[in-house]
Amino acid sequence: MVPGPDGTRSGTLAAPTAKLTQPRILFAKTPEEVRSFSGRGLAKVRALRDAIVRAEGPRTLGNTLEPYDDLSLRLHELQALPKFLSDVHPDSGIREAGDVAYQAADRLATELSLDRELYETFAALDVSSEDEATRYAVAKILRDFRLAGVDRDEATRAKVRALRDEITTIGQEFDRIIREDVRSIEVDGPEALEGLPEDFVRGHPPGHDGRITITTNYPDSIPVFRYARRDGVRKALMAEYLNRGHPKNLDVLARLVAKRHELARALGYESWAEYATADKMVGTARAASEFVEKVARTAEDRARVDYEKILARKRQDDPRAERLERWDLNYYTELVRADSYAFDAKRLRPYFEFGRVRDGLFEITGRLFGVRYLRVTDVRVWHPSVEVYDLFQGRRRLGRFYLDLHPRKDKYGHAAAVPLVLGVRGAQLPQAALMCNFPDPRAWDGPALMDFAEVETFFHEFGHLLHVLFSGGVRWAKNSAEGIEWDFIEAPSQMLEEWVRDPEVLRTFALHHDTREPVPTNLIGQMRRAEAFGRAYEVQRQLLYATLSLMYYTRDPGALDTTAVLEEAHARFPLIPHFEGTHFQCSFGHLNGYSAIYYTYMWSLVIAKDLFGRFKARGSLLDPTEAARYRTIILGGSERPAADLIREFLGRDVAFDAFARWLREAG
Ligand SMILES: [Zn+2]
Repeated sequence: MVPGPDGTRSGTLAAPTAKLTQPRILFAKTPEEVRSFSGRGLAKVRALRDAIVRAEGPRTLGNTLEPYDDLSLRLHELQALPKFLSDVHPDSGIREAGDVAYQAADRLATELSLDRELYETFAALDVSSEDEATRYAVAKILRDFRLAGVDRDEATRAKVRALRDEITTIGQEFDRIIREDVRSIEVDGPEALEGLPEDFVRGHPPGHDGRITITTNYPDSIPVFRYARRDGVRKALMAEYLNRGHPKNLDVLARLVAKRHELARALGYESWAEYATADKMVGTARAASEFVEKVARTAEDRARVDYEKILARKRQDDPRAERLERWDLNYYTELVRADSYAFDAKRLRPYFEFGRVRDGLFEITGRLFGVRYLRVTDVRVWHPSVEVYDLFQGRRRLGRFYLDLHPRKDKYGHAAAVPLVLGVRGAQLPQAALMCNFPDPRAWDGPALMDFAEVETFFHEFGHLLHVLFSGGVRWAKNSAEGIEWDFIEAPSQMLEEWVRDPEVLRTFALHHDTREPVPTNLIGQMRRAEAFGRAYEVQRQLLYATLSLMYYTRDPGALDTTAVLEEAHARFPLIPHFEGTHFQCSFGHLNGYSAIYYTYMWSLVIAKDLFGRFKARGSLLDPTEAARYRTIILGGSERPAADLIREFLGRDVAFDAFARWLREAG
């Protein structure tokens, strides 16, 4: 790997020589293949580690950083690929082998993070005369060694090692229980589906006993919570939805929180929240809490107005209603939008047929960023519904991605973008995947129509995917997608959501599945006005989740009752009703993956609103100059700290005003 003539800062693309090899493990047929992939990979990583430590003479990039980079790329794949298989593979044997392989890779990662000899090779490496990107990468490597506890005594390191292994296993158990706990209710016939869109009713014909099954999967639950007129149907499904993972995960979560607390204390931190925020933009748990408070204060008055409007609408149906229930929120919010803004979200569905949305997303982002997507059909995949694409700029391939977009049994039930292979200039091209749960054209009777919220999710996750692919041209693995500050990564994804709300953009691809007419402009206008309603209220809900994640990881876990804390968090945000008898924390998957840092969504949203201001000022979201700057500086710029990229893009530090203005526009 050779440095570029420009000091290899932001926005350098993958050189044509970078390799693209589809990881064979993605089409493993047997658990044995997963085991052997893991075994060989771990041995190779160990050999690389030994070679670095044994190298003689002064420490150089060539005998230290370069082989370490190679090691990091391999280790990433040994963790990411098996974990991915355990989330998406239809075969339970392969999923289990994936879990075991991930544990083994994670154990090795922990071991290396506490490897004093390896650490000392970096401590002895002088990079003061290297370029900025190299210094940044090495600074992060040294920081991560110290955060892991490499400079602690042997007893502490042994304890840390044991705790990390336990945490990995417990976290996997937590995720698996959620993934495998898809629940359902039965209703007594089509009349129970009153209020639901026609395509949904058609897609849910009664069984031979006349009853209709509705699951907690998103293509079912999102429309039911939004549109089902029958209170009892929404309530019954919400009870199942909020109790996924219960009761099993009560104990699993308690152990997860306790072990993380113990680990943080062993490393000299007050709590896991302190530890988890130390390498983020926010810096400390206290700053994260203060940020949550600040947003809550900004949103509070408006959220109360939203609440009163929603409650008033409920009283039209039930004059004696004193408050909103958890299963009322989406439904009555939608009705307020229908009444006050003459907007009925169901009217949008015919314009969002799944395949057309996917093609539209490609077209818009292709135009915006000067790239194109080429379907790859000659590679094997883990399920026939998975689609593979290569991302091209002109004739140059920038990376590859896999779309696994529809629900099936035992698959990960939420939506996520996963970096599978990290991109490094001249070495290998980035590869990533989306795992989502959108309506499946092959499973539905009639067109697979999406709710607008699902279209937003698609754009959101695709924003992550593009971030991973566009940041794949860096010089060092430590500066690729894996090294980006975690509380920055939701900014590019939330940015891309803005495009799907824009009339100019929507008119290009939101065509009626039957008539091919573009979505009427007045319907978009109504949608945008209606969408502004309830914004502050939704922000309160997000803050409740952020508070919950901070609370679980700040408290002394000795006497922690996670259900009592859930109630306490609701008490802090009294406008968001708690559903008595449900246990949201048991299916709150972020408590494993994000642990204490759910605040990152809101933190990134403040950044996204500020960045987006530049496109707004240009008057068109399809402005090619602004898009090119955005792609180069922000999406391709991971060789510098996020705060520096923001400063370069905006010409100043990030500010709170754009976000506050967006909240005030509400209603
Ligand atoms: Zn996201």
